[in-house]
Amino acid sequence: MRRCRLCGSDRLASVVDLGATPPCELFLTEEQLDEPEPTYPLHLRVCTDCRLAQLPPLIRPEDTFTEYAYFSSYSASWVEHARRFADSALDRLAPGFVVEVASNDGYLLRHVVERGVRCLGVEPSANVGQAARDRGVPTLTAFLDPETGAAIRAEHGPADLVVANNVYAHVPDIVGFTQGLRALVADDGWVSIEVQHLLTLMELNQYDTIYHEHFQYYTVASAQRALATGGLTLVDVELLPTHGGSIRLWARPAEAAAGPGPRVADVLDREKAAGLAETGGYAEFGERVAKVRRDLLRFLIDAAESGKTVVGYGAPGKGNTLLNHCGIRPDLLAYTVDRNPYKHGRFTPGTRIPVLPPSKIAEDRPDYVLVLPWNLRTELLEQLSYVREWGGRLVFPIPSLEVAP
Ligand SMILES: [Zn+2]
Repeated sequence: MRRCRLCGSDRLASVVDLGATPPCELFLTEEQLDEPEPTYPLHLRVCTDCRLAQLPPLIRPEDTFTEYAYFSSYSASWVEHARRFADSALDRLAPGFVVEVASNDGYLLRHVVERGVRCLGVEPSANVGQAARDRGVPTLTAFLDPETGAAIRAEHGPADLVVANNVYAHVPDIVGFTQGLRALVADDGWVSIEVQHLLTLMELNQYDTIYHEHFQYYTVASAQRALATGGLTLVDVELLPTHGGSIRLWARPAEAAAGPGPRVADVLDREKAAGLAETGGYAEFGERVAKVRRDLLRFLIDAAESGKTVVGYGAPGKGNTLLNHCGIRPDLLAYTVDRNPYKHGRFTPGTRIPVLPPSKIAEDRPDYVLVLPWNLRTELLEQLSYVREWGGRLVFPIPSLEVAP
C-alpha cells in the first residue's frame, strides 16, 4: 500500500500524473538507442494529512549514476550565490564550525575556508568530494543519516551551522536525513536549507521540475512538519529566485528555538491563500499542466506543417520531463543543443532527440528556438539575441507558451 513518507498516512491524493518516463539525466549513446530503456511512473501525489507532495522512491541516486557528475563550481552564478550566502551567514552567526551536507565540489565551503573558519563537507559522491579536497575543503565521503551525523559530531564536535542546499528534495528517507541534521547541529546552533518551493512550482506551472530524482516538493508548511520529525523548529524563511523559486529555511533545535518568526507566518499565509493548505487547492494544477502541453504541441505541429524549422536550446534534466510528457520527437524538434560537452552526440532519454553543440544554431539558422531551461530566461534572451539576426524567434514553453518578439 502507498504510504506517506513523512507521516505514514495512506491517504494520498493525485496532483498530476505525468505518465512513465526514464530517469531524466540518463542521456543515451548511439549504441543505447537499440537497447531497452526502462521507464518509471511519474505521478505526483499529496498527503491529505501532512500535505507533503511526493513521488514514490522508485529509483535511487545510485541507479542513475553515470560517469557524468554535476560539479557545482561549473556554474559561475551558483558559486557567486554561495559566496554571498556564506559571507552573510558568517557575519551574522559567527560560527566556529560549519558542516555542509551534500557539499558537492566545495563550491560553498571554499568561501568558508577562505575566511579561516573550520568546516567539513559531507558528500556522497566520491569523485566530487575529491574535487573539494583538491581545492582545500575538508570533505568526508558519506551519506547523511542519524548514525553518520552522530559519528561526525563525536569526532569533530557539534556544528554551529549546518547547511543543506539542494538536497532536501533528493533524499527518500526524509525523517532519517532530518534526524541526521539534528545530530550534527549544536544544541544552540543553526540549520540552513535551500529547496525548491512548491508554491511557485504550482503558481508558475513549473511542472517540468518534477522528476524522479526529486522525491518530495515542499511548502513551508510541509517543510515545517518534516523538520519537526528530527527535533528541529523552523524559525525563519527567505524567498529566493533560484531554480525558478526556492525557499531558504532557517531551523534550530526545538529546545533553542523561540518559535517561527513573522516571515514564516507571511509565507504560510500566502500558501493558504493559494489553497495549498487544503487538498482541493492542488486539483487545478493538472488542468494547467495539460494546457501547457496542448499549447506547446499545437505550436510545434503548426510550425512543422508550415515548413518552419524548430530546434531546442539546452538539455537540462527538467527538459526531459517536458519532452516526454508532451511526446515531442525529432519530427517536431529536430535537435537540441547544450553547453555541456558530455551530452554532445547523445540523445535525450525517452524522446531520443539528438543533443549537439550550441554552434549548430548559428549554422542552421532555424525559424524557432525552443528554450528548455526557462529559468535562465533573462540571461538567455541576451545570450541568444543573435537568433534575431536571421529573423529567428525564441520560444518559452513555461509558465505558458510565449514566442518572444
Ligand atoms: Zn503525510
